[in-house]
Amino acid sequence: MNAHAILRSVFGYPEFRGQQREIIEHLSAGGDCLVLMPTGGGKSLCYQIPALLRAGTAIVVSPLIALMQDQVEALRQLGVKAAYLNSSLDASTAARVEQELANGELDLLYVAPERLLMPRCMELLARCRIALFAIDEAHCVSQWGHDFRPEYRELNVLAQRFPGVPRIALTATADTLTRQEIVERLGLEDARQFVDSFDRPNIGYRIVHKHDTRRQLLGFLEGRRGEAGIIYRLSRRKVDETAAFLASSGWNALPYHAGLDTATRSTNQQRFLREDGIVIVATIAFGMGIDKSNVRFVLHLDLPKSIEGYYQETGRAGRDGLAADAWMAYGLGDVVSLRQMVDSSEAGEERKRLERQKLDALLGLCEATRCRREMLLGYFGQRYEGPCGNCDNCLQPPQTWDATLEAQKALSCVFRTGQRFGAAHVIDVLLGKTTEKVKQFSHERLSTFGIGADLDEQRWRSVIRQLVAGGLLHVDLAGYGALQLAPASRAVLKGEQRVTLRLEQRGERKKTRAQRGEESARVRLERAGIRPEDEALWQALRDTRLRLAQQQSVPPYVIFHDATLLEMLARRPRDLEEFAAVSGVGARKLEQYGAVFLAVLTQTC
Ligand code: ADP
Ligand code: ZN
Repeated sequence: MNAHAILRSVFGYPEFRGQQREIIEHLSAGGDCLVLMPTGGGKSLCYQIPALLRAGTAIVVSPLIALMQDQVEALRQLGVKAAYLNSSLDASTAARVEQELANGELDLLYVAPERLLMPRCMELLARCRIALFAIDEAHCVSQWGHDFRPEYRELNVLAQRFPGVPRIALTATADTLTRQEIVERLGLEDARQFVDSFDRPNIGYRIVHKHDTRRQLLGFLEGRRGEAGIIYRLSRRKVDETAAFLASSGWNALPYHAGLDTATRSTNQQRFLREDGIVIVATIAFGMGIDKSNVRFVLHLDLPKSIEGYYQETGRAGRDGLAADAWMAYGLGDVVSLRQMVDSSEAGEERKRLERQKLDALLGLCEATRCRREMLLGYFGQRYEGPCGNCDNCLQPPQTWDATLEAQKALSCVFRTGQRFGAAHVIDVLLGKTTEKVKQFSHERLSTFGIGADLDEQRWRSVIRQLVAGGLLHVDLAGYGALQLAPASRAVLKGEQRVTLRLEQRGERKKTRAQRGEESARVRLERAGIRPEDEALWQALRDTRLRLAQQQSVPPYVIFHDATLLEMLARRPRDLEEFAAVSGVGARKLEQYGAVFLAVLTQTC
């Protein structure tokens, strides 16, 4: 069989996507490669099909023990002989898998890196026929990234021990620094590089300023019941708080962070994967390798540390190609605390400088007035010309205003108060409030006292946040968040440089709760491409899938992805032949599930 025939008969997909075909041909012919593709781009097929084409077993190195089981299960559902080896297996199961490997009975074997590197395992591999090595999440070799795994650095021994076996490294992290590190560390200097477009057209990007996080969060979630989503928070404490708040407001929300005991963590992750409509509130410890395809939204309630992080985290939404949302709320407090975190870290100067640059780039994205997608892709070195029509700035172009005078007022107030105070006090002075602190320092006597009474507090917070984000104000290193003038502010104070800021949208149009609920329920169905009259059938298909999944204790998307169910809905196959033509239905699934789903489809019609 050739690659295309396998794509059709095993995976049930009509065509390759992007560069899949070239990658598969290159690897199958014995070439090494490095694949950079966004999450949801279809990286797994790039080594799974060559694994079936080449003689021997393909070894897949993956850092995520907890998720190997699901990956292997998804392959077994397709009739592929796959297994995994990691520390979660008991001795006798591990011995059985090793025996299968030795007998040449496996197409694919997933292995954790620390396991693979054990002398015993290396010796075992040396006695077997190896089709290829796939190194998934290859950015884990990078010590600059947040997913650093020291064992990944040892993986270059594969090239030395198995010189004739082709290797493929894959990652969704796109920045050039990481890419260089992967090449060096894994000895891939001669490997061909495949860099895909990083655009995720189905993800809509929105970045709003924080004013009342809880209300904004509930506002976003309204009408999204039944959808799966991830909410990222910076600290464990905030994760717990938000999860508890959502649970008390009637949401199916679960926390996930490194401070929870292993059992709770794994239960929460399993529930997220296996049930429909769970919202997981997590630190960035959650998410890598999660291949749940129908995550409908990823929210950031705190600022992430870099655009790379933001892009990777938001990339976990909408892997099925259906509409999904990336929504972030951020405020002055975020900017201040992240700046402090970078400045007060133990890291060396070079690293700090790098982290500052990354944070500045992210702030630039937040405050931008042009297409977010254009900026995101531009950051990864990809040219894209907006408007994209699927980000907030394109859908509702933000208004800007000339804030030169206000910037001067704020900057001189910072200067007059001695560059020793945080935003709250500076704003009090601008507004002319006689607070205890103002009296204590006699700030009511300053020339800048009350010069900002024409704007309200919220507006001033927005001005100061944008000045900090734009590098005109610094946040004090010592750790109390005092604002200080940055060198760039001189030109503004001297009137040599104008300042243009974003005008923040305030107070959404007033609508009744019922109106909003109804509207969003309709929008949700529309977004998924489901006509109201099809809703019952859609639900019946989902219920059938859930029942089958529960019987086998596997996640529902392992049976069929949402995209496949939607296609059933659109095509209404009437017999097995028509059912086989649905994308995502391969030979094995046709045999296993064809009749069950056909019964649902024909009954309800
Ligand atoms: P990645 O590992 O790059 O994040 P996956 O390999 O998990 O992405 O693929 C994302 C989704 O796209 C999966 O549901 C997969 O089955 C599907 N997919 C991959 N290749 C194709 C294709 N050629 N046609 C249709 N769907 C595909
Ligand atoms: Zn846009």
